[in-house]
Amino acid sequence: MRKDYYEILGVSRNATQEEIKKAYRRLALKYHPDRNQQDREAEEKFKEIVEAYSVLSDPEKRRIYDLYGEEGLKGGARASADFFEFNLDDLFSSFEDFFGPFGGFSRQKRRGSHVEKTVWISLEEAATGTAREVELERTTLCPRCKGTGAEPEAGWKKCPLCHGAGRVIEGGFFFRIEKTCPRCGGRGYIPAAVCRRCGGKGFVIEKKTIKINIPAGVEDGTILVASGEGNAGGTTGARGDLRITVRVKEHPYFHRQGADLFTEAKVDYISAILGGELEMKDIYGQNFILKIPPGTQPGAKIKVPGKGLPHLGREKRGDLFVKIKVEIPTRVSGKEKELLEKIRKLR
Ligand SMILES: [Zn+2]
Ligand SMILES: [Zn+2]
Repeated sequence: MRKDYYEILGVSRNATQEEIKKAYRRLALKYHPDRNQQDREAEEKFKEIVEAYSVLSDPEKRRIYDLYGEEGLKGGARASADFFEFNLDDLFSSFEDFFGPFGGFSRQKRRGSHVEKTVWISLEEAATGTAREVELERTTLCPRCKGTGAEPEAGWKKCPLCHGAGRVIEGGFFFRIEKTCPRCGGRGYIPAAVCRRCGGKGFVIEKKTIKINIPAGVEDGTILVASGEGNAGGTTGARGDLRITVRVKEHPYFHRQGADLFTEAKVDYISAILGGELEMKDIYGQNFILKIPPGTQPGAKIKVPGKGLPHLGREKRGDLFVKIKVEIPTRVSGKEKELLEKIRKLR
């Protein structure tokens, strides 16, 4: 089956390069796979369009095609794969003179995206609360063009699509539709050049350090939201948020369950039998005395009220539970053995 590249692009055989380019852009946008998902017909059409354009946009290939047709181009001159490999965003950004340098005015109003960050803190920091300086990279409105994407020194030129009217007329023989000019968004003028600083994107990347306060009692996986500290929106859109996930590291001695803490302590067998005292350190770094009641069994849990973590946003703290490990000596001295034998007889 022979393909007529001119027919595919809907241009005449003596169309100028400019006309071919224009027709290609219009059709490529219409049939782009990103806009026609799962539509086989549109995909085939898109491939055809790309193929036709790859030939007709190249003066040498076009000359061969005009003389010998598709056959003349066999052997390497067909549409190459990398010509096809671009996505819709590339298409938009390479079509500046079709949509205006901002990729269309309607795209400016959306809200900026969120910036996600993770910070790790120790369990001690979770107990007392802490602060962190978070370094982030985010987009911000270009200071040179104030987000418009237009080079301020170059000024504006009359929109070539609507010739300054701001409106265009579409239609055929029977009816006509007047609509806002898609090129200039109805302004009638477009920037004469794209911004030197941001290349027309309207955004630049900035590095910023933001101090965040992490409250006492924070749970692992809590997300703190600094609203309006994320990526910039368009010239009129709000910034997204900075979302910080707080991760709490495992502690070598204390295990957490909600606001309660669990730990273990070794107690000699005499103290377990007769009772005693054990000096310990809590999560806040303070020493305290754990009272071992007489007859404490191995594995017993002793509750220390108020030595847990704070409940988030409240004064009240959880409790500390100390699991007792009774140490049985593997070797005893002669004297100790003698005394233990006496106890045995006594019992
Ligand atoms: Zn700029
Ligand atoms: Zn216009």
